[in-house]
Parts: sequence; C-alpha cells; structure tokens
Amino acid sequence: MTRQWARELVSHSSKIYQLRTMVKQAKDGRRNPNISSSTIFVVMLFFFLFRLRSMEELDRNVKKGRFRQLVPAKEKMPSHDAARQALMKWDLESHRANHELFIAKFKHNKGPWKGAINGWRTAAIDGVELFASKSRCCNECLTRKLSTGETEYFHRAVFLQKVGGDPRIVYGAELLKKKDGSDKAEGEVAAAMRLIHQSAERHGVLADVLTLDALYAQAPLIHEALDHHQHVVVRMKEERRRIMKDARGLFESRSPDVAWLEKDSSGNQVLVQAWDEEDFTSWEQLRVPFRMIRMIRMTERNVIVGGIKHKQTEILERWVGTTIDKGAAGTDTISRIAAARWDIENMGFHDLKTYWHMDHAYVHHLTAIEAILGFQIMAMNLFYAFLFGHLHHFRERGIPQTEVVEELKEQTRWMSEQLLTPLIWDDS
Ligand SMILES: [Zn+2]
Repeated sequence: MTRQWARELVSHSSKIYQLRTMVKQAKDGRRNPNISSSTIFVVMLFFFLFRLRSMEELDRNVKKGRFRQLVPAKEKMPSHDAARQALMKWDLESHRANHELFIAKFKHNKGPWKGAINGWRTAAIDGVELFASKSRCCNECLTRKLSTGETEYFHRAVFLQKVGGDPRIVYGAELLKKKDGSDKAEGEVAAAMRLIHQSAERHGVLADVLTLDALYAQAPLIHEALDHHQHVVVRMKEERRRIMKDARGLFESRSPDVAWLEKDSSGNQVLVQAWDEEDFTSWEQLRVPFRMIRMIRMTERNVIVGGIKHKQTEILERWVGTTIDKGAAGTDTISRIAAARWDIENMGFHDLKTYWHMDHAYVHHLTAIEAILGFQIMAMNLFYAFLFGHLHHFRERGIPQTEVVEELKEQTRWMSEQLLTPLIWDDS
C-alpha cells in the first residue's frame, strides 16, 4: 500500500472543502479554555474519521500520538474530559456554518448530479433511532413504555440524504423534539418538514425529487416540498384512502400500461407490470392533482427443496404516488426513484451505525448529541467525497472501507507534522 491516503484526504478536504476555514470558525462556549475550539474540532473530526468507539479511546489515542501531526506543536491536546466539556457547550451555529461550507462546495462541483436518476437529482428522507437506554440521561430524552412495563429513553432524528448513486452525502439531520409539556416525541412528519424547510433556506435546491416512505404521505409535507421546488415520490399503502380506491377501481378495469424486466439486488430477474395514471383529485387535502402508480413485481428465485432446485415466483404489489407529470418522467423512472429510497436505510443508516457508531451515546447531553452527530456527518461526508470524488472507481476496485480507515490511522500517526498542519491550520 503505497498510496498516501492520509495526506490525500487532508489535502482534498482542505483544497476542495475548505477544511482550514472550518477549523478557524469552530467555536464553543467554554470560558478561558486551555485547549482551543479549533483543536477540539480537529481532534474530534479525526476521532470520528478514524471511527473510534468511545471517549475513553480518545485518551489512548492521544497518548499514542494519533492526533499530534494534525495540530501545531504549540497547541495542547485534550483529555476526553476536556473534549466532553467542549462538546456540551459546542456552538451549534458554527457547526451548521461548517456543514454549509461543505454542501456549498459539493453543490458548486455538481455533486448532487452524480448518480442522478434519468436526470432527477434524488434525495431521501427517513427517520432513525440514535440510541436508547433504560436510565434517563438528559432533560430532552424521549420516552416509550416497553411491554415489560419499563420506561425506555431514546433519541431519534430524521435525515435528508442524497440517494441513487455515490457519494451518498448526508444533506441534513433534525433531532425529534419533545411535544410541549410531555415526554412524547413530536411526529416524524413535523421534523421532516422542518428539515425540508431548513435545508432549502441554507443550501437552496439540492434535489429535484424527494423519495419517501408511506409514513410521509401527508399533504402538509408534500406542500412543504413543492413550496421548496421539490417533487415527491412517496410509497402509498393505506387502502382506505379514497385516492387509492379510485385508482384501484380504474386500474382493475384494464391491462397493465407498461411492463419491463429488471434485476433485484441479488441478481434475480424481476418482471414488473405497472399501471400509471395522473390527475387524480380525490385526495382533498392535497392542493395539486396526484399521479398514482400500481406495480406488480414478480421475482423469480431458485429455491432448494429436498436437495432439488425449484423455481419460485414471489409476487409483490407496490403503490407509489407522485407529483411528477407523466410527460416529465416515465413509469420506470418513477419506479427507480422509489427504489432508491432503500439507499438511506441500507447505506445511510447502516453505515452511520456500523462504521460511524451513530448508535453509541458518546456524551449524553443534548448539545453534545447534536454536536457529535454533526461531527459524524462531517466525517462521513468528507470521507465519501474523498473515496468517490478522488479515489476514482473506488467501489469497482473492491477495497474495503475499513482498510482505508486503518491506513489513514496509521499514516497519520507517522507522518511529519509539517506535511499536514499547513493544510488544516491557517497560521501554521
Ligand atoms: Zn437524552
């Protein structure tokens, strides 16, 4: 392994994504701290880039000199306790400004177009639990009753992520808040609407269409998306809705409008038959006519019964609704946009939990939770922008991400400080 991944990652993050400005504008609310906010920012960003699992690991890695080459020699290194204090007082506005810097550059470099689905820049919104515990740990914990009668405390967030192709950048996240005067969470739809609004305010248009699960098939949310120049493709499953009854009635009287073959993720052949009609007005709360698509997916699988191979066909019915006209996107395009929703589950949340330890409560304190989530998103975004924007054909070459991270960790430890700090710090 002769590639200088550590230096290349830092250089890429610095020259393209303005890491130096991020370091300079990092801020927290401690009074007369021994260790500057910028040092905490650099150490925590690399702590998450190196995918360390606990605040205690911070101390061990500081002792090993893991971060020494990233910070000018005159700056002191934080203990995990100092880092914890800083995170609890982190200036979340400075975090948002740094995220904005990254997204603005990504947008400037036409990032949102990479992996666009037939010309549609696609993003997904979905919710996920961050972590749960049986002992309350902060004033803002959400609660639920378990079947055992015990109370469980947890935190949950909704995410907005680019889907459809690499790099799958996280555009934003919103923690679910408590409803006024109770320990119950606000609805995920309310948090998602806030996310759509804030993302548009801060970054402008990043996606042409949002792909959503059935939970988000709510008129106010669809209006929020339309108000911010985004269409929706949303899974529909409530049979009792008038619009679904109307569409089913119409579709049952005719043969499929279109059919095609595709492969599922395991390589099985899938025959899709689809019915597609627009201008339904029977969703009264919705201010625009809606297009409904019914798909029957027939997947052929090989199953082995008693040592003998059989072909088995699995039949699935799926409904999707969209604000996009037939003239603007064909049935197969809408179907692909709907399927891209799985990326946020399979690659977004899966990666954030498995590799970036999002399901671990590093510091259980509301400001720290938001600060840490911000660092995890920043680390993941810089890393994926580097893998898929700089190390070309990364996926095709089949290099495991964990190997890149291990290499980064080792190279950073042994690299000369003069090589890295000028890329990270303005005045060194
Ligand atoms: Zn809590």
